[in-house]
Amino acid sequence: MNIIEKNIIKIKKKIIKYTQKYNRNIQNIKILAVSKNRNIQEIEKAFYLGQTCFGENYIQEAIKKIHNISLNIQWHFIGKIQSNKIHIISKKFSWCHSVTTERHAYLLNKYRSNLEKPLNILIQINMDAEVNKNGILIKNIFNIAHCLTKFKKIKLRGIMVFPYIRNNIKDQIVIYKKINLIFNKLKKNFPSINTLSLGTTQDMEASIASGSTLLRIGKGLFEN
Ligand SMILES: *Cc1c(COP(=O)(O)O)cnc(C)c1O
Repeated sequence: MNIIEKNIIKIKKKIIKYTQKYNRNIQNIKILAVSKNRNIQEIEKAFYLGQTCFGENYIQEAIKKIHNISLNIQWHFIGKIQSNKIHIISKKFSWCHSVTTERHAYLLNKYRSNLEKPLNILIQINMDAEVNKNGILIKNIFNIAHCLTKFKKIKLRGIMVFPYIRNNIKDQIVIYKKINLIFNKLKKNFPSINTLSLGTTQDMEASIASGSTLLRIGKGLFEN
């Protein structure tokens, strides 16, 4: 068995364990394979093991992969958005997790082809108001969400959060529950919302405990 195969089994076991522990429906939790710094062979391997959604952070790197892999992959952009590359995100990806301004939404909408399905959008939240982290402050979330609904070629699907990892699970769950509250409030107000992109290799348990629907797993999938 290769590393990726072993890892997928490990991750699935964990997901089963935590969904039981926290009374979640396993159907509502998906894995996004974070493939930054991974090569085409690794992505193809994961694909043939059943992984169909992949997340990329850097446009240059992503575009090479998207053009050279002819598999039916759903590509998610999860990196920081740069305005001069936003047309590429709009044209080449199915999802963008890192929208933080109305201007992003305007441009993603503008460049999206009419022939494609609307681009799925998540608003990135900077939960702890960290200085160098991408994302909007919680107090602005409803305002931005509302602005996004006027664009026809993008579809607001939820929020993405990448909090710093606390030392213990209890502290993690305290803050992650706050994320869950915000998510549920938004969901009530915006019917298209159903996605909470929360959780990486290190914080799967707290994320599943707190309603994550999309885990963004990199190291845990590709590394030994
Ligand atoms: C790299 C990255 C991940 C994956 O983190 P791992 O610890 O490798 O699982 C998840 N989300 C974002 C936004 C990332 O940049």
